[in-house]
Amino acid sequence: MNPVIVTFLGSRGPYPGSDEMPSVLISYGGKNLLLDVSEGTQHRLLEVGKSVASVNPILVTHMHGDHVLGLIPFLQSRSLANITTPLLIIGPAGLGTYLIKSFEYLYFYPEYVLVVNEVSEESKVCEGCGDFIEPLKELARNQESKVSVVRTDCCKTVIEGPFKIRAFWVEHSIPTLAYRIDISDTISLCYVSDTTASDNVIKACKNVKVLIHDSTFGSDMSDKAREYKHSTAIQASETALRCGAETLILYHISPRYKNTDNLLNEARKVFKNTYVAEKYMKLYLTPSK
Ligand SMILES: [Zn+2]
Ligand SMILES: [Zn+2]
Repeated sequence: MNPVIVTFLGSRGPYPGSDEMPSVLISYGGKNLLLDVSEGTQHRLLEVGKSVASVNPILVTHMHGDHVLGLIPFLQSRSLANITTPLLIIGPAGLGTYLIKSFEYLYFYPEYVLVVNEVSEESKVCEGCGDFIEPLKELARNQESKVSVVRTDCCKTVIEGPFKIRAFWVEHSIPTLAYRIDISDTISLCYVSDTTASDNVIKACKNVKVLIHDSTFGSDMSDKAREYKHSTAIQASETALRCGAETLILYHISPRYKNTDNLLNEARKVFKNTYVAEKYMKLYLTPSK
C-alpha cells in the first residue's frame, strides 16, 4: 500500500532561519494538501518536484505573516500557468476579504474557481458536533472573478479527495485554527502550529498518529511562550502524551535556537518518540490494512 508522505517545506517561525517558515505538504493517492503558506512556499514546492497545480486544498491556520504571505504569489502563479482546476482554501474569518482586496489592488482576478471556506469564530467550542456537515453559506463574491467566500461552523468536517479535514480553534495572540486530517482509518495527523498549551488540542487530537506542534521556545523562555501565546517543547510533549499521540514533531521552533538538541532532549524526557522538523524532512506513513 502506498504511504502518506508528509514533507516539511519550512519549519521555523515566526521569522526565517535556515529552515524557512511554516508550510507542510501532505501527499497521498496523487493528491496534495498544503498546510500554511509562508513566503517562498511555491519555490520550495518546485524544489521537491511538485507544481502549484498539484495542490488542493490549502489550509491556513491564521493571518500572521509567517503563515499566509506566500498565498497571493501562489494563487497568481496558478493563473499565469493557466490552471483551470478549482481550489479550496480553508482558514479563519477575514481570509476571504484579505484575498479579494489583494486581488483588486494587484489587478489580478483568478480565472479558476476559488472557494474560500472561512471557519466561523462564533462557536469556538466544537464539542458534540460529531461529523455534522453544514451547507456552505456564501458571504461574498468577487464579480470580476470566480472567487467566492463561504463560512461554516468550526465543527464542520470537509472531505477533499482522500483527506477528511476538521478545523478547531486554539489559543494564540490572534484567532487561530489548527487542523486534524484523517486519511484512512489508520493514518491521522494534527497540525497545531501556533498555540499555547490547550485542552482543545487534547480533545481534537485524541489518539492521533502524528502530532505536529508549536515548540517555539525551550524551557529557558517559558515566560516568553506565555507572553506571546506559543508553547515550549516540554508543553508540546505533555500535550502529545495526554492526547495519546504516536509521534510528536517539534515545529515552529524559534530561529534563535541554532542548535535544537536542548529542546529535543527536554521533550524526549516527557515523550520519547519526538523529532524536530527540518526543511525538506519527509515522513512516510503506511496505512495498515
Ligand atoms: Zn507563526
Ligand atoms: Zn502566529
